[in-house]
Amino acid sequence: MSKPICVPEIFGCDAFNETTMKRRLSAGAYQAWKQCILTGTALQLDVANEIAEAMKNWATEKGATHYTHWFQPMTGITAEKHDSFITPAGEGKVIMEFSGKELVRGEPDASSFPSGGLRATFEARGYTAWDPSSFAFVKDGSLYIPTCFFSYTGDALDKKTPLLRSIDEVSREAVRILRLFGDNKTKRVQVSVGAEQEYFLIPKAFYAQREDLRLTGRTLFGAAPPKGQELDDHYFGAIRTRVSNFMRDLDEQLWRLGVLSKTKHNEGAPCQHELAPIFTDASNACDTNQLVMMVMKKCAAKHDLVCLLHEKPFAGVNGSGKHNNWSLCTDSGENLFKPGQTPSQNAQFLLFLAAFLKGIDEYQDFLRCTVAYAGNDHRLGAHEAPPAIISVFLGDELTAVVESIINSTNYKDPGKRTMQIGVDSIPAIPKDNTDRNRTSPVAFTGNKFEFRMLGSSQSIAGPNVALNTIMAEELSQFADILEKADDFESALHQLVCDTFTNHQRIIFNGNGYSDEWKEEAKRRGLSNYASAAEAFPHYISQKNIDLVTKHGVFTESEFRARHEIHLQSYNKLINIEARTMVDMVMHQILPAAMHYSSDLAESVNRKASVLGSDSDLAEKSLLERISCRCNTLYQKSEELYQNIKAVPEDSAAAAAYNNNVIVPGMQAVRKDADYLEKLTAKSYWPYPLYSDILFY
Ligand code: ADP
Ligand code: MG
Repeated sequence: MSKPICVPEIFGCDAFNETTMKRRLSAGAYQAWKQCILTGTALQLDVANEIAEAMKNWATEKGATHYTHWFQPMTGITAEKHDSFITPAGEGKVIMEFSGKELVRGEPDASSFPSGGLRATFEARGYTAWDPSSFAFVKDGSLYIPTCFFSYTGDALDKKTPLLRSIDEVSREAVRILRLFGDNKTKRVQVSVGAEQEYFLIPKAFYAQREDLRLTGRTLFGAAPPKGQELDDHYFGAIRTRVSNFMRDLDEQLWRLGVLSKTKHNEGAPCQHELAPIFTDASNACDTNQLVMMVMKKCAAKHDLVCLLHEKPFAGVNGSGKHNNWSLCTDSGENLFKPGQTPSQNAQFLLFLAAFLKGIDEYQDFLRCTVAYAGNDHRLGAHEAPPAIISVFLGDELTAVVESIINSTNYKDPGKRTMQIGVDSIPAIPKDNTDRNRTSPVAFTGNKFEFRMLGSSQSIAGPNVALNTIMAEELSQFADILEKADDFESALHQLVCDTFTNHQRIIFNGNGYSDEWKEEAKRRGLSNYASAAEAFPHYISQKNIDLVTKHGVFTESEFRARHEIHLQSYNKLINIEARTMVDMVMHQILPAAMHYSSDLAESVNRKASVLGSDSDLAEKSLLERISCRCNTLYQKSEELYQNIKAVPEDSAAAAAYNNNVIVPGMQAVRKDADYLEKLTAKSYWPYPLYSDILFY
């Protein structure tokens, strides 16, 4: 038994959080920081200097020797460069110094981060700027300062900048709506996000032996083991000691960093687990999720395990996703997606609900694109994750409310109950009623929406930028209408009713995995982009460009640059996977199968000399089958290799080619290789099998 942890004592002890700031800063500096977060005003240099000094003293007391501007470039992971606090003090001595300027602004050598063509080569510099809305922390001897990353010309080069812009936008538009309902107090509406994180843990020794896992994060080969997850014996099952030791260690580290790690359990697939934090504001949730992924990897290594965050590390068992729980909340703590107690609260709730439904319906493509990348292609629509079609699950009770509102103007339907907005109150919506449907991509779960299409490895920034911006747009359209209305009540009723009527096609409460839904969705005119490559072109549709530029979340060139980066990342990844495959076939798989078959041939010869050359021999039959597969595998692998060399130059054309030619080519190679794995004696096989790795 490891030593007990006093959680309240250690919680946040490695984070320069609000409590620490209050204690370590003068009242003036603390207030200035608060003001800066609330209103987005810049910090004065003297305040920055004071905060920097306090941060450095706090961090060095915790053993930090360095600081780093921690940022989230378009690689989807985080980047850090460490500078020590040392300053020469004469006579060969140093002191530890950290200035406000160093806190607020940094200049990493940024020429090697993806920019999608935004940075001209003559001005390749990138800058980082402290994001005071997210807390600094100490980890591994460094003070980590969360920052935004942008170019010399001010273009966003990271995931964080547009997220912060979108948070401001949705707050502003939501406040406009609240004013119409007589709320004069709320200054800011916060986006709340809780990201549930799935992951795999496997023994390091197995990982080390597999080139595919090491180079691509997933197994490119591997025949299905005799047992998969069909017994459902892993989901919520007892956690094995080695894993629970890891989880305990992980929790402790996360708590120290101020991460609200709450839930842990085994997931559906063998070796698969989940961690869910308590929700926080979207900016912190985004940083925190990156931190969770980073600490998971490091912590696993300490336990001789490897944490796999890939969406599909193993074929035939579930892949890993990330559920993005999203809601809006006022600065006094009122959740705007919580059906209220009174008719007036319900009118407000219905308006926010209407805006959400309209937004998801109108911008399905945008949302789909935010989860489009190579790794996620293995999940979406594969009957283990939501389909690639976007729809919203509301549950029976709330759907009945929506229908009755629609039907009140539809007099042909007199049998149904009708609901008057702002007069009746919505029936209480029990949570267990809303959480039952696990096949929906966007599910209402009582007081929030759960966007379930995210892949386990991705940054949550992109999907939240989309949700926030879409919501900002719809709320602004509603505010424009309602602010001008002579009779607020009837305008509101009309607006909600019309919106529900016009966008009800996006509501779907049935089984998202079924083929009937695909047909039905097509009839409803909902889009269905089965792969990332099919989704990509829709990202930069005029409608999306208008949306993001209107709200200042992206400039058009920033937005197009992102599109270019998505294409390039996809192409590079497929290229690495395909080349790794060819490599493994030529260096490992064929040599192993050929070695085995030559031993079989020798055995056939030896036995034939005793039993006669026409005797039936298992070795002979096996030898024939293996030889035959080796031939086809060799051909397919060679074909794949030639095709890799023929990938078009243009990135959009390359993405389509990769999707249509390379990916099917990889599947064909895998099929033969996995067949050979089943035929070949285990002692000859060059890497651990699924049954070894998943059932260690
Ligand atoms: P599950 O989805 O597995 O049933 P829960 O509903 O308890 O689990 O919560 C899942 C996640 O949603 C948690 O991270 C939780 O903190 C978060 N969450 C709960 N309420 C909200 C909210 N109002 N806004 C955003 N996230 C929330
Ligand atoms: Mg969930």
